[in-house]
Amino acid sequence: MWKSIKCAEREQQGHQRHHRSIRDITGASETSQEHQRHHRSIRDITGASETSQEHQRHHRSIRDITGASETSQEHQRHRHILRMKLLLLVVLVWTASDEASADAENVTDYEETDLIMKKAEPDLSSIQEKCRNLALHGRATMSSIYKDSNWGFFGMAINGIDGNEDTNYYHGSCFHTHTELSPWWRVDLLESYRISRITITNRGDCCGSRINGAEILVGDSLANNGNNNARCALVTSLPDGATQTYDCGEMVGRYVNIVLKGKQQCLHLCEVQIYGD
Ligand code: CA
Repeated sequence: MWKSIKCAEREQQGHQRHHRSIRDITGASETSQEHQRHHRSIRDITGASETSQEHQRHHRSIRDITGASETSQEHQRHRHILRMKLLLLVVLVWTASDEASADAENVTDYEETDLIMKKAEPDLSSIQEKCRNLALHGRATMSSIYKDSNWGFFGMAINGIDGNEDTNYYHGSCFHTHTELSPWWRVDLLESYRISRITITNRGDCCGSRINGAEILVGDSLANNGNNNARCALVTSLPDGATQTYDCGEMVGRYVNIVLKGKQQCLHLCEVQIYGD
């Protein structure tokens, strides 16, 4: 018991000596705060125990490593990701709107192009009209039928506007009158046109010179079977099987006649094409 009291006194005395020596070194008086700082310093140096902050830092590190639970930082990161997603959505909507505007501009371009094409249509149509063979939808007739028991039926008037330029009579695509005075062939276009040009294709298997001296007439009259209408061209000479075009200016007429006036002869051609509008 005595020994214990002595030991306790010696420990108290040693503790007091210890603090006196610190005060001697620092030259300051030891306050309660200094005393606490002193002991914290000792713990920092020795690592003997954890402070509250160290404890929290320690557990944050563990959570960061394991991802076990959501900390305040994770919550902030989550909100940051949401903000980025929202920003991305805004960018996508803006891009889609921009593309829609571009599409609208393209539609406008197409409409403008369409308008330009429509403005050009009348000219194209006019060209197409002038390139259309009006004779193909006409009605053909002639002064007589070739009276030949074997080949006469090959020479019908309609063969002159069948769209076939075969020049061999025996292939059945040429018209052929009987031999007579002033033989003629005529096509009715069913309405008046401005005739710009007429193309004829001569028989090729023989006898091409029979067309020489023929007149090509254009007009609206059927007087004298249309043979009094105005003349577009005179066929002075045309070889066997040849095709020749004659410029009629802008002669107006529903009927086109080909006639050998004053000649006692047969008349034959294999195709007649009429262009106008
Ligand atoms: Ca023909």
